[in-house]
Amino acid sequence: MREAAELTQPAPVELVPGRRGAPRHCGWCGRRLPEGGNVGRRRRYCGQSCRQRAYERRTALQRSGLPEDAVVLSDTEVAALQDRLFQLRCAAEDIVTAADDGADTRELRGLAAEIARAAKDLEQLR
Ligand SMILES: [Zn+2]
Repeated sequence: MREAAELTQPAPVELVPGRRGAPRHCGWCGRRLPEGGNVGRRRRYCGQSCRQRAYERRTALQRSGLPEDAVVLSDTEVAALQDRLFQLRCAAEDIVTAADDGADTRELRGLAAEIARAAKDLEQLR
């Protein structure tokens, strides 16, 4: 009986911890970095391969004359980013439509959870 009741619970929405300090992201792929201890230098990358690729890109940029902090995305990466932004907009428009149609809190919550998920995916750049 208890299990059946739990199944009807809405899926938990993962909220940004703390909210105050924005989460930190890998300087290469944009993945969220784990909340680290405050020992030593702060991490900028989620792993060695991201650190290496960022270093290679930096070196290439220095040769190209572009500013060192330039963000260079390939056509494919930009297209994928635009796809995901479009999905985010659709999810937001779904909420507006549902609200206009008098959707109840539970349904709105489900749609908002969908936006939160889409936005979280977008934090990952590559
Ligand atoms: Zn990374």
